[in-house]
Amino acid sequence: MLNNSDGDRMDWWEKFSERATIDDIDRYRKKSIFYFISFFGAAVILYFSAKSYQSYDVTLSVILLFGAVLISVNAVLAILLKKDDIHYYFAVACVLIMLLGVVYTGGYKNTALYWLYPMPLIFFVLLGVKIGGVINFLFYIALLILLHPSVSIPASYEPAETSRFFISFALMNFISFIADYFRHQSHSKLAKISHAKLRQAYTDSLTKLPNRRFLSSVLTDRFMKNSEYFPLSLVNIDIDHFKAINDTYGHQVGDDVLKSFAALCTENIRKDDVIVRTGGEEFLLFFVSTTKDQGAALAEKLRELIAGNSIHMGGQEFTVTASFGVAECHRFEALDHALKIADKRMYLAKQWGRNQVVSQEPE
Ligand code: GH3
Ligand code: MG
Ligand code: MG
Repeated sequence: MLNNSDGDRMDWWEKFSERATIDDIDRYRKKSIFYFISFFGAAVILYFSAKSYQSYDVTLSVILLFGAVLISVNAVLAILLKKDDIHYYFAVACVLIMLLGVVYTGGYKNTALYWLYPMPLIFFVLLGVKIGGVINFLFYIALLILLHPSVSIPASYEPAETSRFFISFALMNFISFIADYFRHQSHSKLAKISHAKLRQAYTDSLTKLPNRRFLSSVLTDRFMKNSEYFPLSLVNIDIDHFKAINDTYGHQVGDDVLKSFAALCTENIRKDDVIVRTGGEEFLLFFVSTTKDQGAALAEKLRELIAGNSIHMGGQEFTVTASFGVAECHRFEALDHALKIADKRMYLAKQWGRNQVVSQEPE
């Protein structure tokens, strides 16, 4: 009896799914915000560095100048090295140290505290809900210590100003957390939905195998981008006299046979190989990094397995056979041609009596 369970059959989806593409959108959002904040922020900081210098506050001017330079160099390095996360952490560390320095000195015209308000949101955006939350919490604690009346610092803040600041800053932290938390939740849900829809669009509903659309949009693209799949051995498979199965046992049994056939093939190919249902009782099997001779041997094993399997359905026992056409493809550009050859060889297998593997044309 052929195995009809779903088992590991969805492996193809895990392997080829486009989850990365969906997450790329979020990564791109983060990256754009990072560059904007880095360059725009550095320009604003430079402006205040110059202003502080003009008003003879050299310490503040130097702190700001260092901050602006580090933040912009970090962003330029992020563009050149393409390692985003490290640069997010570095930018946050620079900003934290610089801001603590600014709060310590009082900032330009003693306005340091006002410049802290955007920070909770920026830290959440760049570091995510969890790490951003931890950093914001630690920043708040550091500010509590720095601005404690018992700590003497050059800056002078009114006690009423500090207490108002701590309350409103806590509120800002809370609002930023809520905003980023729900943004993150809705992104995950949308990603899940769009992932499920893609999976549905690429899956043949009867056999749960990838369908022709998957072949033309996803698989072909993978073959184009990854030369390690080559040489690729293509096998065109067509079930023999399938119309007779429908006519004899009914369409429902025909459907069940297709499901069993698909399951049997999936369970007996290697984990990197892919089988696609290209039409009614027609399938395309891709043996990756496999020469034609190896592919023909694998197809022959599969043929024997199918032909040797007795099917018990609708109170009847019968066997099903299939015809196989094998072709080899060495590079992506030759894929269409190889598909035609595999098709031609499958028809030769039909002509020569069916239930056989053909991997070359007669001399
Ligand atoms: P050959 O050996 O030459 O391939 O003969 P065949 O009968 O398999 O080929 P033919 O192309 O004449 O018939 C294929 C049949 O497959 C016709 C069609 O009704 C049936 N079929 C296609 N899709 C499905 C399906 O989803 N379910 C069922 N039950 N039958 C299907
Ligand atoms: Mg057919
Ligand atoms: Mg057929």
